[in-house]
Amino acid sequence: MATPSITRRSFLAGTIAAIAAARWQGSGQALPADVTLPDDPFTLGVASGDPDPGGFVIWTRLAPAPTSGGGMPGVDLPVTWEVATDPSFATIVASGVSVAVVALAHSVHVEVSGLPPDAWFHYRFRAGGWTSPVGRARTAPAPGVRAPLRFGVASCQRYVDGYYTAHRALSTEGCDLVVHLGDYIYEGGGSGPVRSHGSPEATTLAGYRNRYGLYKSDPDLQAAHAMCPWLVVWDDHEVDNDYAGVHSADGVPEGEFLSRRAQAYQAWYEHLPVRLRVPAGPNVVIHRSIRWGGLARFHLLDTRQHRDPQPCGGGLSSPCGDWDDEGRTLLGPSQEAWLLDALGSREAVWEVLANQVVFAPMPIGTARNMDQWDGYPAARQRLWSVLRDVPNPVVVTGDIHLGALAKLHRELEDPSTPPVGVELVGPPISSRFTAAPPAVVEAVVGALPWFEHVNASDRGYLIVELTEDALQARYRVVSTTAERTATVSTDHTYRQTAVPVPRDEDPVDTTTTTSTSSPPSSTSTAVTTTSPPAGGSEDRSGELAPGAVIPRYTG
Ligand code: FE
Ligand code: CA
Repeated sequence: MATPSITRRSFLAGTIAAIAAARWQGSGQALPADVTLPDDPFTLGVASGDPDPGGFVIWTRLAPAPTSGGGMPGVDLPVTWEVATDPSFATIVASGVSVAVVALAHSVHVEVSGLPPDAWFHYRFRAGGWTSPVGRARTAPAPGVRAPLRFGVASCQRYVDGYYTAHRALSTEGCDLVVHLGDYIYEGGGSGPVRSHGSPEATTLAGYRNRYGLYKSDPDLQAAHAMCPWLVVWDDHEVDNDYAGVHSADGVPEGEFLSRRAQAYQAWYEHLPVRLRVPAGPNVVIHRSIRWGGLARFHLLDTRQHRDPQPCGGGLSSPCGDWDDEGRTLLGPSQEAWLLDALGSREAVWEVLANQVVFAPMPIGTARNMDQWDGYPAARQRLWSVLRDVPNPVVVTGDIHLGALAKLHRELEDPSTPPVGVELVGPPISSRFTAAPPAVVEAVVGALPWFEHVNASDRGYLIVELTEDALQARYRVVSTTAERTATVSTDHTYRQTAVPVPRDEDPVDTTTTTSTSSPPSSTSTAVTTTSPPAGGSEDRSGELAPGAVIPRYTG
């Protein structure tokens, strides 16, 4: 990707703004500018995230001893940061000094701004005589520009279940973005088939910090972060398995659980490259939208913090009691109103919901997984009744530890109605599917008419390519997570043509974006292909060899 030639002057404003944006917490302690650290504090690598047309967040944390309290002196420290157009930092285009504060575990979030749109950069940090690894970050295209986009989708990286061979492979995919849908850490203690957590269940700020320290010490995870900006949301295991709002899954009193939630949320913030306010207390708004020019909007959702408890005792249950009560919510009133309002404007060809739990109906006999949207049918219908009239809705999902693809029909459980959207459920990075034998769930879910792909046997990630004309998704699976190295292959490929969305300057034909019982079949019918896209596509990869595609579980 070409990087532009830029004068230092044009970046002065951006540099000043970025310095001002550095989060100085004002602890009152002196800044020992000449401090030296005996051990490398950059053990957790670097990361970037939440790009906009003028910049992105860059992140690091000073932690010479990341699994045992960090190992830093108890003083705030200055951290120098630099952004350059080249990996050797010959041309630095933005720089400044941020402060790594004790109160945030010496983490640093810098909101770099003033950069040109649609451009790649390199960044690094310096502190205490040490220099961090170099990361790559990029800005988003300017508003309205429909530049193509390639993004990865990752979730569910239970450390003890496997090595991060999927992250290593993801780091070589040439992505513009990675969307991480949560279960970034698992709070539980103990061991798995491959590694050990080495500490009991995390329940306190110190415990969660050490857990992030363990996970983020992994070089494969660091490589994936260093590749490009990430868009990150949390799922349940960043706090406690299957919690719902103020309710823990194991009956801990609300006040006690909210204290735990506050500490978990703070540790999450400290370790991820997010453009958010510093958390204070148990309520932390993380839902937000990220624009990719005029091509795509990502609506990053939080389906844990604001939800009502799972009905019918949670788990896999037949509907009962208040299951379909109109008043029940998964997103919470505020986030739901925000999302429905956002979906009311036409700003992009693709509207992508970055979502945790499976959206498509997934009945198992008469039972449903009450932790998924299936446990909140009225809330799902309120959202779907708006989302199905958006030209090109895409839901990307994690949580369930299988790769799957569901057509979202106009009436979700009536496949005789036209498919108007798609849900791409990403394979887990390392977590195993343990709820049932993989072959059983593959057969049962694969038999649902709106599911065309289910793989509960493999680990991996998704690669999604968007252009103005089409979506292409590749399900990438790794050969093993039991060893440090693996090969990666494509398990399933899906291609969907876009419903045309008029540009701002074009006359708006509202009939293409409002409710019609039968959208034009030539543009809205999703098809699966095992062949490369037809000529004329804007697909940049050129790497989808027909022989590389191994369709499985197509139905
Ligand atoms: Fe998970
Ligand atoms: Ca989960």
